Amino acid sequence: MSIEVEGVSKIYGNQRALNKVSFKIDKPEIVGFLGPNGAGKSTMMKILTTYLKVNEGHAKVNGYHVDTNSKEVQQSVGYLPEHNPLYLEHYVKEYLAFNAKIYGVSKQRIDDVVELTGLTPEAHKKISQLSKGYRQRVGLATALLHNPEVLILDEPTTGLDPNQLVDIRNLIKSIGKTKTVFLSTHIMQEVEAMCDRVIIINKGEIVADKKLKDLRDEKEQVVIVEFDYRIEEAFLLKLPKAKKVVNTHDFVYEITFKTSEDMRSYVFDFAHDNQLKILQLNQKNTSLESLFRDLTIK
Ligand code: ADP
Ligand code: MG
Repeated sequence: MSIEVEGVSKIYGNQRALNKVSFKIDKPEIVGFLGPNGAGKSTMMKILTTYLKVNEGHAKVNGYHVDTNSKEVQQSVGYLPEHNPLYLEHYVKEYLAFNAKIYGVSKQRIDDVVELTGLTPEAHKKISQLSKGYRQRVGLATALLHNPEVLILDEPTTGLDPNQLVDIRNLIKSIGKTKTVFLSTHIMQEVEAMCDRVIIINKGEIVADKKLKDLRDEKEQVVIVEFDYRIEEAFLLKLPKAKKVVNTHDFVYEITFKTSEDMRSYVFDFAHDNQLKILQLNQKNTSLESLFRDLTIK
């Protein structure tokens, strides 16, 4: 149940899409691979599923080298590609049976994955008749057919409506109890909703690798305040436990405090003492949000 990536680089023409990427996952957990569009997420996932070759370094899945043991790697991973090519004219079960044949999977297993992915009520339909949420379930069911230990899901929730989003997240969470799930997303809320750990990638390089639990414990908070007048950042830094002040636009400031205590009342008192009017006062979070922003906006 492992993924091991060591110094992997991928070069397209003269562009380095991945630059000496290293990380390790060695237990059943859900790891979010978070990064802006173009960061290199899909490239990394295609390498792990043997669809692309590395230029430097090596990658292993379940101990098998992706470049020399591609068959074993493919047996170990279930892959949901970013743009999953489904055969729209197939019926759900027909499509799954077609894929089951490739892996030599039993008929019983088809019924099991249909059940597991909540496809039962739609299983008699053609894929073209399914909503985007159910199509994603078909993709997940296909990825799970050969009961792989590792699941690689490339932006599995992109394009889903809010209800479908919650359903698919729950499904992924339940799968993550027994399998290693490596999923990519460019939306940090996805990571907070589903993941145990986050690996952040920016411009082909890993910029953070953290447990969500540790991030939550990192006692930091951001308060957004809008005054009716311009104020020097240095002045706002006098607030207790204020660590950073950013004037985001006009008279709006984002103040980062080094505490988990709700600091809004301090900001309010501060404004009052200094005869400032507050037009807006909100607590923003989370530390993941500030981490992501700090690490990817450059
Ligand atoms: P992400 O999935 O994080 O959005 P990708 O891995 O798809 O990022 O792409 C990383 C970078 O590599 C992007 O700049 C993209 O344009 C480039 N890229 C991806 N695939 C190819 C390709 N087949 N040929 C050339 N450049 C590519
Ligand atoms: Mg991508």
